[in-house]
Amino acid sequence: MMHCTSEIGTTHLIIRLDNLEHNVRYLRSKLKENTLFMAVVKAFSYGNNHCEIASFLQKKNLADYFAVAYVNEGVELREAGITKPILVLHPQMADFEKITFNNLEPTLYSMRILQQFIKFAKNQRKKEYPVHIKCNTGMNRLGFSIDEIEQVCQVLAIEKCVKVKTAYAHLFASEDKSAQFFMEKQISNFIDFQEIIKKYFSHKILFHNCNTSGILNYPQAHFDMVRSGIGMYGFGNDPAYQPHFRPITILKSLISQIHEVPKGGYVGYNFGFQAEKPTRSATISVGHADGLNRIYGKGVGFVYINGKKAPILGNVCMDMLMVDVTEIDCEEGDEVIIFDEKHTSEILAETAQTISYELITSLSRRIKRIYVE
Ligand SMILES: *Cc1c(COP(=O)(O)O)cnc(C)c1O
Repeated sequence: MMHCTSEIGTTHLIIRLDNLEHNVRYLRSKLKENTLFMAVVKAFSYGNNHCEIASFLQKKNLADYFAVAYVNEGVELREAGITKPILVLHPQMADFEKITFNNLEPTLYSMRILQQFIKFAKNQRKKEYPVHIKCNTGMNRLGFSIDEIEQVCQVLAIEKCVKVKTAYAHLFASEDKSAQFFMEKQISNFIDFQEIIKKYFSHKILFHNCNTSGILNYPQAHFDMVRSGIGMYGFGNDPAYQPHFRPITILKSLISQIHEVPKGGYVGYNFGFQAEKPTRSATISVGHADGLNRIYGKGVGFVYINGKKAPILGNVCMDMLMVDVTEIDCEEGDEVIIFDEKHTSEILAETAQTISYELITSLSRRIKRIYVE
């Protein structure tokens, strides 16, 4: 939570918690008064470190619930002092011990996992251990089918060792306006699930369905809670929404060395670039081991130096890449922006036909992260 100049003199990520707060407040402003907000902090909080992100959100009281994909992420949150409920989206039987020991809440998504968990909870003499039902409304990834749900509810309604807290579904193309017909079908399927589930339980079960783009595009489907990941980190998945979001993840480095490459000279591994004319090449200490994949090489991706675009020359190395600064007034030690709030990771990701999610979740843990409020 501090600026340390010696760290800034190398490749580093600045994580803007002020932007995170802005994004969460913006997303929450789209919700009805009583709709809860679940902060999705899986995958190292999309590269930003779940412990730091969740601690900040908890301190500011900006999240009602947290979600992680895997159990170890939830264990780390507990160790970092997170006391709010934590939903595990994708648990396995091997995780049950850690789940109950850390008071994490498992998703039950198949008959197999449901039966295994009930057996485990009984053995541990648990009473009303919180669990969540995943409904498959059309994505066919995880979840019970509509044909199974009566049986699921019959089992869960009589077992005293568990208590169903929420039931949820997931939209498979909520950011894609042309998929609206399918999304509305998924939403109506989820309402069918809800009607069945409600019949079996006397206590209130919370229903949730929307990820970030669902929050923005399907306000009628927020139900009792929403789950946001990418929006918190600053992306609305749509140019129309982007002005409301502020990317929180900024990757900067500096020019380590400049080479004057003569006509015919090569840059980097395996003849990846040959100079057709005298070329100035700047070396930067970020490579494919840091998450800047080789796909960004050979002019696909670029960085910014002194406000100008510098395309990547040749192949991305493991710990370094070289960029073309022939037309840029710069010197060794100058700052390099790989992405920031303006030149976003989403724009860089798009050069390689991928999405912001993939680029930011791939950022290596070896890159120093500096958190600013
Ligand atoms: C990852 C995930 C989310 C968050 O999605 P975003 O598009 O990042 O908001 C929500 N729900 C489930 C089930 C997920 O797996």
